Amino acid sequence: MTNSIASTSKHPKGLWVLFGTEMWERFNFYGMRALLTLFLVNSLMMKEADASLIYGGFLGLCYLTPLLGGFIADRFFGNRNCILLGGSMMAIGQLLLFTSASVFPSNLSLATTFMWLALGIIIFGNGFFKPNISSMVGSLYPKQEKSKLDTAFTIFYMGINVGAFLGQFICPILGDVKDSGGIRDIHAFKWGFLAAGVAMIIGTFTFYFLKNRYVVTPDGKPIGGLPSKNEESDFEEGESQKATFGTSSLLGAVAVFVALFFTFHYFTEGDNVVKTIIYPIIYASGITLAGLILTDKTLTKVETQRIWVIYIVSFFVIFFWAAFEQAGSSLTFIADNQTDRNFFGWNMPPSMVQIFNGLFVVIFAIPFSILWDKLRAAGKEPTSPFKQAVGLLLIAVSYFIIAHNVKDLGNSGLLAIYWLILLYLIQTFGELCLSPIGLSLVGKLAPKRFASLAYGVFFISNAAGYALSGTLGSILPATGDKFNKAKELGIDLQAILDKKITPSAEQIALLEKNQISTSNPVFVGFEIHNLYEFFMVFVILCGAAALILFALTPRLKKMMHGVR
Ligand code: GLN
Repeated sequence: MTNSIASTSKHPKGLWVLFGTEMWERFNFYGMRALLTLFLVNSLMMKEADASLIYGGFLGLCYLTPLLGGFIADRFFGNRNCILLGGSMMAIGQLLLFTSASVFPSNLSLATTFMWLALGIIIFGNGFFKPNISSMVGSLYPKQEKSKLDTAFTIFYMGINVGAFLGQFICPILGDVKDSGGIRDIHAFKWGFLAAGVAMIIGTFTFYFLKNRYVVTPDGKPIGGLPSKNEESDFEEGESQKATFGTSSLLGAVAVFVALFFTFHYFTEGDNVVKTIIYPIIYASGITLAGLILTDKTLTKVETQRIWVIYIVSFFVIFFWAAFEQAGSSLTFIADNQTDRNFFGWNMPPSMVQIFNGLFVVIFAIPFSILWDKLRAAGKEPTSPFKQAVGLLLIAVSYFIIAHNVKDLGNSGLLAIYWLILLYLIQTFGELCLSPIGLSLVGKLAPKRFASLAYGVFFISNAAGYALSGTLGSILPATGDKFNKAKELGIDLQAILDKKITPSAEQIALLEKNQISTSNPVFVGFEIHNLYEFFMVFVILCGAAALILFALTPRLKKMMHGVR
């Protein structure tokens, strides 16, 4: 056993309170994420492409609001209050989704309104919750124990994924229900959302009741209280030196944001508001904030170069999350519509297939951290950007394998579930090379006075990845179910998509009513004809990103000035 893992028992008890709270919160988050797109398509009668765009926008905003949540905690409410507020908001959001899923058959527009309201509240709830719980993990350790942080975050990352695993098990069991003939019970989703809400209530109460006793400094003082009660000694040397920007920088930033927003808006095709408004907000915020930090005149040359490394890495990370987050949209639709989900004799609900990610993280997080420890001891540990390039390459490989498996399926063949499980295994290896490493890299590279803002940029790059995941998910071509449905209606969908026949107005209406498009999706000018081409988009994007990042690694290493 390596030193860091063996010292697990010596972690403060507060870590386990944060572990438990985060576990229930991620249960709530990933449980509903498993069901969301299927609910939008099957109950709220949306097209898969629109559901993917909403899903990407929702996740993206969930990673944009932490900037606000972190700011409000630091200035006004403190971590603890923000966690309680965020947890309560998310629970309310889930109960609103429960309501939406309860009223939809009789009143579709009311149900849709409840859904929007619910997602909005969850987005802000997550913004209050997520950055504050993560930063409290760091605050649990006094200066002399910061070396335990890597292990602390590995343990915490496992808490996240135990929660994801439980949520992706329970919510699909209750909410994603099909009868023996494969017909879905579209009224069941509500029970999944209710379970997610209950999980969030448990998480909030866990934190509420245990925080005073355990989430404290070694000498018993509360951690994460009101900022006005922070003592000077709570800060490390030099840390009180807060980042402050002049009025001209801030005004300039607003102008840049507006200009970027309109530029992205202008170049976005289509009429989906999530795509034309929300995505541009996310992309513009990231670039603006990144630029704002660089306007600070106190930055030294070394600091500036290190910040550039954060930005470059953040840019590449976008492609990783865009590919990774297909789990809850296109990959779930494929699991639903063109997969043989027989798992050792049991027909697994489609929304549950993504559970393998959480499961594999729980299994492999510790082995991976032991691997890095061993490589470090042998002086062979790769630099962080190199590990991230490996993460990107792995995700490209995962899609390459699946692309070759769907190649000969045609319109009616089924993909074996084991290929999706293999995909999640390889993607999880990629995640473990990239995600926890990225978090600690930002912490190491950012000058202290810009740490929160640099994390802000990093999180927005995750948000941008999610927005891109929505766009990419929306180019999923028709899967088997669509061809079958069209056949039932007496329509040859393949011939229409191949433009061999022109559908009548009546046929178009019939297909539209069944949420089936009459043309293939298009991505940057390329028509996506089938699943093979769809998956190859991810292979090309992530493969190219990996190769460029590999090539940049020696340069980045220099720019990091000694940080690994
Ligand atoms: N799965 C992790 C979580 O939910 C990481 C997600 C991310 O960093 N984008 O916290």
